[in-house]
Amino acid sequence: MKHLKDILPEGRVLTEEEDLYCYSYDASSKEAIPSAVVRPVTTEEVSRVVRFASENTTPVVPRGAGTGMTGGAVPLRGSIVVSLEAMNRIIEIDEKNMVVTVEPGVINAHLKEKIESFNLFYPPDPSSMDFCTLGGNVAENAGGPRAIKYGVTRDYVLGLEMVIPDGRVITVGVRTMKGVVGYDLTRLIVGSEGTLGIITKIFLRVIPMPEETITLLCVFNDLDMAADSINRVMASGIIPSTLEFMDHDTIVAVENFRRFGLPSGAEALLLIELDGMHKVVAESAERVASICSASGGDVKVADDPFSRKRLWEARKAVSPALYHISPLKINEDIVVPRSNIPELIRALKEIERDRGIKIVCFGHAGDGNIHVNIMADRERQEVATATVREIFEVTLRLGGTISGEHGVGITKSPYIDMELNRAEIELMKGIKRVFDPVNIMNPGKIFPGHWLRHSIHPY
Ligand SMILES: Cc1cc2nc3c(=O)[nH]c(=O)nc-3n(C[C@H](O)[C@H](O)[C@H](O)COP(=O)(O)OP(=O)(O)OC[C@H]3O[C@@H](n4cnc5c(N)ncnc54)[C@H](O)[C@@H]3O)c2cc1C
Repeated sequence: MKHLKDILPEGRVLTEEEDLYCYSYDASSKEAIPSAVVRPVTTEEVSRVVRFASENTTPVVPRGAGTGMTGGAVPLRGSIVVSLEAMNRIIEIDEKNMVVTVEPGVINAHLKEKIESFNLFYPPDPSSMDFCTLGGNVAENAGGPRAIKYGVTRDYVLGLEMVIPDGRVITVGVRTMKGVVGYDLTRLIVGSEGTLGIITKIFLRVIPMPEETITLLCVFNDLDMAADSINRVMASGIIPSTLEFMDHDTIVAVENFRRFGLPSGAEALLLIELDGMHKVVAESAERVASICSASGGDVKVADDPFSRKRLWEARKAVSPALYHISPLKINEDIVVPRSNIPELIRALKEIERDRGIKIVCFGHAGDGNIHVNIMADRERQEVATATVREIFEVTLRLGGTISGEHGVGITKSPYIDMELNRAEIELMKGIKRVFDPVNIMNPGKIFPGHWLRHSIHPY
């Protein structure tokens, strides 16, 4: 039998134990050692690897930067990891048509920086944007603070090139602003978590850079007042480019992690950003500031790049800061209709009290996407797991969804039947079977127990 090393140029295949370990985990708490790691540099090489895997019925796991929160890139059952990190070229910036073509390993923030000099803007901004890849963003349909005004990754993907599980290369979608020929496979693939194929090229829509940005920091001594402000701002007819929320415990955790100067005594804060034409932004900022003040908020304006950067550094520090609170941190990215945020927060406080477990909240309040972190000692894993289920029940009762950004992967797969009924899950599995009849492409993700026996090829 042929070896992976026989079908790829030298240096592409890693099999040393220490190398394999580096590709065994992501930002979830899950890990599994792969049987080999390949780092292709062309679509043709990806295709060769996938064809090889298909012929040997060996599972394949696409991987970007491994920042996923739900174990999507974790190589279950001795899979071959296909790391796209070396396919990191920005192939074309088509200024006139405002379309860029990239390879999947391009880091989100690198694309933003690169197109800035063309006065172009790529809005999707996961907090991990300094290190996550666009391929990973597409596979997870990543969102971020700006989703409230600009939408999520899906809203910018015009088309894709992808290697499907038998090794063939397909190109779906368009490079134009419109296109309705056949089923919309692009939308199906965006958010499919690497279970349908390996994305090797992405055609992205970009937009003109906003002229001006102003950030407001609004501090509240009462959680309900903060929630009330969120609804009032959104009802005012102004759409902020971000509307981020942090509760008291999050603020304290961030300040203990690094001194950013956030008010540790506050019950909640909102980070509200407005962008657009200079005059409009200035007027909108004034109106939003007065709405928040009227609801009891203390408002500070950050209108220079340095103070804005400092506030966003504090916001981005939330995730690492929370790891310092307790050894066990379960981060759920639930979404509820925005008007139900106050009820959600009240329910979370009740759960926290009843179960005697700390629940810390922050996130994208403007679109109802709240990151709920269950913090506990490891001995309380069972209570923490039961708490997750209870939080999901409340979320669904309030008309929400159990994941707004992080996808299902491994960690959420035991819960998908809380949101999807049997017919819906069967339909999704049917789609998976059409793309991947022998189930080699990232098996074990999304669908609980969706396994086939694999003869693992020894490397
Ligand atoms: C500190 C921190 C903050 C975060 N903040 C946010 C946030 O604000 N919003 C948000 O949405 N997410 C956030 N995330 C989660 C994560 O960064 C995103 O899901 C991101 O899109 C993952 O990109 P990645 O390159 O790391 O992908 P990976 O973790 O490597 O992979 C994620 C999934 O995509 C698949 N995949 C990767 N590349 C490809 C490809 N080329 N073809 C097919 N499938 C592929 C993998 O198989 C896997 O299922 C955060 C994570 C961290 C650690």
